[in-house]
Amino acid sequence: MLVSANEMMKKAYEGHYAVGQFNINNLEWTKAILQTAQENNSPVILGVSEGAGKYMCGFNTIVGMVKGMIETLGITVPVALHLDHGSYEAAKAVIRDGFSSVMFDGSHYGIDENIEKTKEIIALANEKGLSVEAEVGAIGGEEDGVIGRGEVADADECKLIADLGVTMLAAGIGNIHGKYPANWAGLDFEALKRISEKTNGMPLVLHGGTGIPADMITKAISMGVAKINVNTECQLAFAAAVRKYVEAGKDLEGKGFDPRKLLAPGVEAIKATVKEKMELFGSVGKA
Ligand SMILES: [Zn+2]
Repeated sequence: MLVSANEMMKKAYEGHYAVGQFNINNLEWTKAILQTAQENNSPVILGVSEGAGKYMCGFNTIVGMVKGMIETLGITVPVALHLDHGSYEAAKAVIRDGFSSVMFDGSHYGIDENIEKTKEIIALANEKGLSVEAEVGAIGGEEDGVIGRGEVADADECKLIADLGVTMLAAGIGNIHGKYPANWAGLDFEALKRISEKTNGMPLVLHGGTGIPADMITKAISMGVAKINVNTECQLAFAAAVRKYVEAGKDLEGKGFDPRKLLAPGVEAIKATVKEKMELFGSVGKA
């Protein structure tokens, strides 16, 4: 069923596990993630970036697809449909179009403007019962000049944003989006401790979940991380599986060119990746 992330975040934080956010790109992606969540009796968050939203013909199309799948596939586990790294405009659009959760990423604004805009989004989201994720400070990425060390958020700024009444808070603790460089310094657990203490009880979100060693993930969850975003890992698994199918010449055998056959190995690879993450995050059986 389509729900906000409010209840699942509260339960995850209190139960010391994390709910995975898996970004979707198309029908196959969405179906694979929903089926895996159901098979593992796990809550799940479907992440939609603005770019993926455009690609899938708009937020309203996505709402229709997800609602239709939940009904047709008989999905009974809690599913949140969540905007990932939303701009102010996109955040307002998904609230209007029927998402159940929204991230407003005001991290590139100064803290005062981030607070003002986050407040406005919270008010709009509350009217319709959506959960809200906000972000403090910039989280590092491949485009950043500094390699090896992701960005770290300021704990006092985190408290300011957390106190506005968000559901969950994304804060940099040395994590990076995309592939991690070989010389990455690892998660900054001192920063996580500071942020966790200051925001006392706020479920924290770890972005850039691809490539963080399992022991660091487990430790971060024990310290207050209740949502972990996974995107690149599903993409890599999907591409590798489809590549293998084509390179083996399977698309040239019989009706192997049928997209339902051609994409099937990719779908299975996404399912395996999502299952592995749900086991690592501890969300299996927690629906
Ligand atoms: Zn992110």
